[in-house]
Amino acid sequence: DRRPFIAGNWKMNLVREEGERLVRDLIHSVGEVKETDIAVCPPFPYLSDLHDVLVGSNVALGAQNMSFEAKGAFTGEVSSSMLLDVGCKYVILGHSERRELYGEDDEAVNRKVKAAVDAGLKPIVCVGERLEQHEAGQSRDVCSTQLRGAFVGIPPEQFRQVTIAYEPVWAIGTGRVATPEHAEEIHGHIRERLTDAFGADLALQTRILYGGSVKPSNAEGLLSQPNVDGALVGGASLKADDFAGIIHAAE
Ligand code: 13P
Repeated sequence: DRRPFIAGNWKMNLVREEGERLVRDLIHSVGEVKETDIAVCPPFPYLSDLHDVLVGSNVALGAQNMSFEAKGAFTGEVSSSMLLDVGCKYVILGHSERRELYGEDDEAVNRKVKAAVDAGLKPIVCVGERLEQHEAGQSRDVCSTQLRGAFVGIPPEQFRQVTIAYEPVWAIGTGRVATPEHAEEIHGHIRERLTDAFGADLALQTRILYGGSVKPSNAEGLLSQPNVDGALVGGASLKADDFAGIIHAAE
């Protein structure tokens, strides 16, 4: 049975004081939550200090990106061992904003997935179609291609560390949330592709999160779908009440 998982992707938001206040309020609101895994993914500069605030709580820490290189002359990059060092358990990889704005392709995502699992970080790997692909009926094909690309050469025992996030680009930051039926259809498709690649047991154990305009008011409909195992939350993770509301909808 899959434990629900709610992760907050802060993106490039919240300076130190705002982030610390949010995390303190969040810990207070979700202290009783036992059956759901929770993570926040703040910007790099605050990871270390926020880890100190989160220690001993039921909220884990994640990063939003990382380099596929281990070390060296890669100005501006951050390695897997640095993320582990500052207390990260998770790392979001292949977010559509990385793909669209910073040119990350499936091969780069694949190299990052390898680097993360080799280091012992748990990747949250994002896939999802753009609006025109959605309208052309290509949602399933786009996700299949991105999945295949992301996990080339990843053996099952390493894939165990992976969480998938289905994030249709047209639903991100638009208020246009996918219907529970659409999410369920694509999540089911993703699970079938994982079954092909890694076998039924592992596919059934893998958590598939939905991301894109998740709010407390629409969370329950999405999370009640059999193949929707949690949420990757952007905007609504920036307010403790909203994020806690989504977490409580998962419990
Ligand atoms: P929003 O929840 O703001 O739509 O963002 C979703 C997202 O991109 C999470 O990674």
